[in-house]
Amino acid sequence: MLRAAVRPLRASAFSSSSKVQQWRLASSLVFLEHKGGKLNDSSLSAVTAAKTLGDTAGIVIGSKADVDGVVGEAKKIEGLSKIYTASSDLYAHTIAEAVAPLLADFLPSKSITHLFGAHTAVGKNVFPRVGGILDTSVIADIIALESSGDIFTRPIYAGNAILKVKSSDKDKIKIVTVRTTAFDKTPIGSGDAPVEEVAEISSDSPTKYVSEELTVSSRPDLSSASRVVSGGRGLKSLENFNTVLDPLADALGAAVGASRAAVDSGYADNSLQVGQTGKVVAPELYVAVGISGAIQHLAGMKESKMIVAINKDADAPIFQVADVGLVADLFEAVPELANKVQAAKA
Ligand SMILES: Cc1cc2nc3c(=O)[nH]c(=O)nc-3n(C[C@H](O)[C@H](O)[C@H](O)COP(=O)(O)OP(=O)(O)OC[C@H]3O[C@@H](n4cnc5c(N)ncnc54)[C@H](O)[C@@H]3O)c2cc1C
Repeated sequence: MLRAAVRPLRASAFSSSSKVQQWRLASSLVFLEHKGGKLNDSSLSAVTAAKTLGDTAGIVIGSKADVDGVVGEAKKIEGLSKIYTASSDLYAHTIAEAVAPLLADFLPSKSITHLFGAHTAVGKNVFPRVGGILDTSVIADIIALESSGDIFTRPIYAGNAILKVKSSDKDKIKIVTVRTTAFDKTPIGSGDAPVEEVAEISSDSPTKYVSEELTVSSRPDLSSASRVVSGGRGLKSLENFNTVLDPLADALGAAVGASRAAVDSGYADNSLQVGQTGKVVAPELYVAVGISGAIQHLAGMKESKMIVAINKDADAPIFQVADVGLVADLFEAVPELANKVQAAKA
């Protein structure tokens, strides 16, 4: 059981206004994801969200080699009071069935009130298991939170409605995943948090890591790229998708994305899908080529800072969210644009 999740402040130090009475000393832990010995940037957004509530520590879980590789970087994250590490072969590849019991055991032992993590594939796998073990709801995909620590904002219906939820799980640990595009990333820089090791706990899970196949690309990572060129069904074939979009993406130094229709038609790899059932991106520049702008696609890109749409249909819904719209045949407009960007760089 969680001890004293709500702790009153000392009367001598603060007035007794109702706002102050509601204030609580939260102690948050951020699950710091990593891959290939590198900290995952998305966790830095979760750190920013967690710090809204006050004292924040981080935890790195993985094989010994992974933890040793990442902990130096994790210590430098600004504003973290401590880095906990748990290393064991059991935790290699972040198998949720092994990691979740460790977190569920650890959180109450340190009187932690909130567990934060990024709303990534790993977060979506691990956090519901932690919630299940601790018998508490997961508050998923938040885009804002209040300093009281029990009120969170999250999008629903593919981002068409914004819901403010108040957790009624009093005295229970809040298990929260964070939409990474909604929070700035806490810098890795001048921090120097002390490190404390956490003992492994055994798991009788039958789940074992076998292998993984990763899509290798020399382009920027779609989830964190500052520029994205996305293609839709309007490209009409796999060959067109590559020959039309690649020169523009190269000229802009952009990642390539795709609509679900383009993925389902075999024009693009599944890992490139942007939208409700794909990746959520918010780059500085998002160029939508031959994409109609269905709400499920908009759910993954409408927070982009500058949206450019190229579509031959002037009534396509994508133009309702576009900052710059070009009604044109993409097979003429995109090569011309790529040439002009390239020429401007020369
Ligand atoms: C539960 C659910 C989840 C979904 N999740 C996602 C998701 O994550 N991501 C997603 O993208 N979709 C998702 N969808 C599908 C979504 O509803 C749309 O079907 C899809 O986004 C359409 O993709 P599109 O815009 O490429 O294709 P279309 O809607 O067919 O649009 C093609 C566009 O290309 C234009 N075009 C054609 N030829 C040219 C040309 N020569 N020059 C210029 N323009 C041209 C057309 O005018 C048209 O606007 C989901 C649907 C459901 C039901």
